[in-house]
Amino acid sequence: MTRTKAQAVQKVAIAGSGVASLGAAISLAEAGIEVDVFEKKHELTALGSGITLQGNSLRAFDQLGVWSRVREKGFAFDGLNLRAPGPGAPIIAELPDVKTGGPDYPSCLGMYRPDLATILIERAVEVGARIHFDAELTAFEQDDAGVDVYIHGELRGRYDLLIGADGLHSKVRELLGINTGPQPTGMGIWRAFVERAQGVERSELYYGGPVYIAGYTPTGENSMYAILVEQAQDRSELSEAEATEIMINQSAAYDGPWNSIRTSLAAGNARVNYTHFTSHIVEEPWNRDRVVIIGDAAHSCPPTIAQGAAQALEDALVLSELLTHRSVLDQQLWDDFHARRLPRARAVVEASVQLGQWQIDGNTEADPGALINGVAQKMAEPA
Ligand SMILES: Cc1cc2nc3c(=O)[nH]c(=O)nc-3n(C[C@H](O)[C@H](O)[C@H](O)COP(=O)(O)OP(=O)(O)OC[C@H]3O[C@@H](n4cnc5c(N)ncnc54)[C@H](O)[C@@H]3O)c2cc1C
Repeated sequence: MTRTKAQAVQKVAIAGSGVASLGAAISLAEAGIEVDVFEKKHELTALGSGITLQGNSLRAFDQLGVWSRVREKGFAFDGLNLRAPGPGAPIIAELPDVKTGGPDYPSCLGMYRPDLATILIERAVEVGARIHFDAELTAFEQDDAGVDVYIHGELRGRYDLLIGADGLHSKVRELLGINTGPQPTGMGIWRAFVERAQGVERSELYYGGPVYIAGYTPTGENSMYAILVEQAQDRSELSEAEATEIMINQSAAYDGPWNSIRTSLAAGNARVNYTHFTSHIVEEPWNRDRVVIIGDAAHSCPPTIAQGAAQALEDALVLSELLTHRSVLDQQLWDDFHARRLPRARAVVEASVQLGQWQIDGNTEADPGALINGVAQKMAEPA
């Protein structure tokens, strides 16, 4: 698509190459805007785990022109099963999901993260965005007319706008002087990418037993990822073999498909990783004049309702819509952006943190189903 009318920006730099960045890069480049994406990593990460994408992210992928590719590579499903620990892992509830993307999309899709990254990068290049790897943004300087962007300390170019889509530990956020950043929630998660166990057709979660949550999500015909959520600990010194051993031991209380997951783990066929959950929401404006943060740079949450990627994509699409439908980059544009994004992202962060906190507190009076359903209804509305 080419530019047809005056737009608020003609040339945009984006720091980072995650879903927030590439969502913005694709939609801006499609509208005829010149886009440079600067990513500090040397290349697309070859390894990774799985991700659960909710309907509202699938709707966003359709807008970006990648839905058919995402659908082909991922594993679409509806519903969520709850199972109990102990022999036979009985299914105690089969919960229907809210279709947060509307009736045209499945409620969920599991996917291997590197496949998603590849699809988005390919699409960004296809529509004309320039992607630069090994390009760490280190500084910027802005004035009334533009923003100078520095990569590895050297001036790389002058732009109408810089988007900081540079994740949890955002450099752009720091340079903007925004002090709100990710805080630990008290939970840590083990993840392993394994062969899909027979009969696993959707996400299944086990509450009770030795960890807060055990579960898995199918990501393809032959793959799925398994998770164990525990009280956060320092696991940084463990070898791959020790990490695998912990997942085998901690999951011993879970029967059913976990038997097959343990077999994959024991055979050394699984990549195991560990990370702490964080949360934050930047309540002050996400921009200062011509520089703005989106995605995990602006908000993060535990993936208890798996909305992180969807929120990052929605930030990107709302921002792009405003930039391509307005003729000036003025305060009104930023006010409209914040009015559409902040309450929605805040609702997701608060609910995601609350769900984790109920687990940590062992709160048996809480009604997680009602909270999840309430947020999902909100997400089903357009961003
Ligand atoms: C354990 C865990 C599980 C999760 N599971 C899910 C899930 O199932 N579903 C879901 O929707 N969400 C999930 N999330 C959240 C989701 O992964 C994030 O919300 C989403 O990936 C954010 O995308 P982003 O583009 O904002 O940031 P990122 O994907 O983090 O991308 C930021 C990029 O910026 C680059 N970068 C950083 N600094 C610079 C710099 N100075 N210059 C240039 N580049 C830079 C980084 O290398 C990185 O590539 C999970 C999160 C965690 C921690």
